[in-house]
Amino acid sequence: MTGADTIYLVEVGSERAGEGERNTVGGWPVLDAGLAWPVCDCGERMVLFFQVDVPADIAVFGGDHLLVFQCPRHNDACFPPSSRRLPEGFWDAPPDNDMRFWQILLHRGNIRAAEADAYLRPRRLILTRAEERIDEHGRGRPGFKLGGVPAWAQDPEHYICGCGAALAQVCQVPEDFGFDKRPERPSQPYTFHDDQYGLFLGNEVYIVACPEHCNAAAAWPIAQN
Ligand SMILES: [Zn+2]
Ligand SMILES: [Zn+2]
Repeated sequence: MTGADTIYLVEVGSERAGEGERNTVGGWPVLDAGLAWPVCDCGERMVLFFQVDVPADIAVFGGDHLLVFQCPRHNDACFPPSSRRLPEGFWDAPPDNDMRFWQILLHRGNIRAAEADAYLRPRRLILTRAEERIDEHGRGRPGFKLGGVPAWAQDPEHYICGCGAALAQVCQVPEDFGFDKRPERPSQPYTFHDDQYGLFLGNEVYIVACPEHCNAAAAWPIAQN
């Protein structure tokens, strides 16, 4: 990694996202053949927090469509697993018998779900190309971004996919980042903001994924604060 790596900074726009848009908070998830809208272990359909086309000039994951889901009823951190090597199929059966309350997908399909997410106000995401800047401790830029390297709130964590590949960052979501909920929906459990939902208790999240694309769901959220 060098300081010249391309990243994209992500902002939530004020405009409503319509059906068929691909860079959104909430909205209509774009899925792939054989990929269903994820359901939590509790049986609840998950909230689409955001989805985005990873721009082609992002290393490793450029051209993928990234979607980040979490259960509306289950809000927790994603704790560090006991082993750096994640088990095969960790996306469906998380290590250490943890509950599967989140799902992150990366694929190249183009099948729009028939319905929009019911929890979050659909909003457009705005992407701005930028360059990664890595400090003397090896930390990348803070903020909501695609690509680059983690800004590490704590010590770096590194994980190996069940297939043997080292997971690499595809997206970073900053601490206490809120996504506006629809007014008719209840507040999120353990919320940090009554009108917004957050990922993983508001931890800063470094989403790392399998560079081999061994499975559409081969991604892991590293949560730190
Ligand atoms: Zn749940
Ligand atoms: Zn893999």
